[in-house]
Amino acid sequence: MSSNKPKLAIVYGSVCGGCDVSLVNVGEPLADLLTNYDVIYWSIALDGKLHTLEKLERIDVAIYMGPIRTELNMKLAKLIREKADLVVAYGTCAVYGGIPGLGALIKPSTLVETMKSTVTTTPGSEKVVKSMEKEGLKIPPLTNQCLPLSVVVEPDVLVPGCPPAVENVEKLIDILKKYLRGEKPVKGLMLAEPRSLCEECPRRPKDMSKLVIPNIYRLHEAVPKEDKCFLEQGILCLGPITRAGCGHRCIKANMPCAGCMGPVQRVDDVGLKFLSSLASALLADKEKELGEEGLAKLLDKIVDPQGLFYRYTLPTSYLTKLVLKRLRK
Ligand code: SF4
Ligand code: SF4
Ligand code: SF4
Repeated sequence: MSSNKPKLAIVYGSVCGGCDVSLVNVGEPLADLLTNYDVIYWSIALDGKLHTLEKLERIDVAIYMGPIRTELNMKLAKLIREKADLVVAYGTCAVYGGIPGLGALIKPSTLVETMKSTVTTTPGSEKVVKSMEKEGLKIPPLTNQCLPLSVVVEPDVLVPGCPPAVENVEKLIDILKKYLRGEKPVKGLMLAEPRSLCEECPRRPKDMSKLVIPNIYRLHEAVPKEDKCFLEQGILCLGPITRAGCGHRCIKANMPCAGCMGPVQRVDDVGLKFLSSLASALLADKEKELGEEGLAKLLDKIVDPQGLFYRYTLPTSYLTKLVLKRLRK
């Protein structure tokens, strides 16, 4: 049955489900909002069919979650940009590529083979691919690269966070309420702070420029004090290069920041930026006696630099662009 209400589509890329949970978790404000929209597509809540979207001439608002990893994800991304007046990139995967984006530098065929030979639903149980075959399901064709929505089309609003923090989801709901009154946000609005997480962190040292990182410990090798900056305790925290706006929720839980809100303004590549800050603060008081070799040995203690520095942003990093450019030559 058609209605005169504005049409809203909630569309998935290769989601994990966490983004949907964060949206639903806001509860009443979302329920209020949805009474004013005609929700025409949302696979978790409706019997969403691709042809429903294809037939529509116009969608008012489309919220896209997850990265673009399959050909269907790509088709949906382009379709919503073509038809929707307001496109929202919801969650870090849609804004920067997110955790699935760590596959950006691996050939799709290698990813599929690894998945087929290793992934089980529970340890020691049947391989997922076997269960899929029994159900007549196939691994969908992958795109050559894993990309965020923001690289493929231009979103109107970007809501980073893995998943987005409740305060930012509420801000999005306000934007969608204003849209009902004919108010549109400025194009490319990012629901995050331009400043770094350190600037609003309760553990921020008095003078960040004098910060000394005494060593490098992995989380299981140390018991972090709750009132001291993680970096001052030798635990790598991506706060200095990460946008504020998440309510420093990991810090409150005594966990270092892993960077899910993405890089602060004017930082193109989180890994390179973090490495340069690290090199200047790591044992800065013993720089001379340590020498280059000693520094390199310490840096070797970082077990998985790619997974640590680029956990959420690899597809948008300078490094990836460079590697992909070389591979294409
Ligand atoms: S941003 Fe995080 S919660 Fe959302 S789909 Fe990606 S991995 Fe899942
Ligand atoms: S590095 Fe981490 S713990 Fe230290 S001030 Fe920044 S966000 Fe807080
Ligand atoms: S503290 Fe860092 S990793 Fe945790 S939610 Fe905030 S930005 Fe994301």
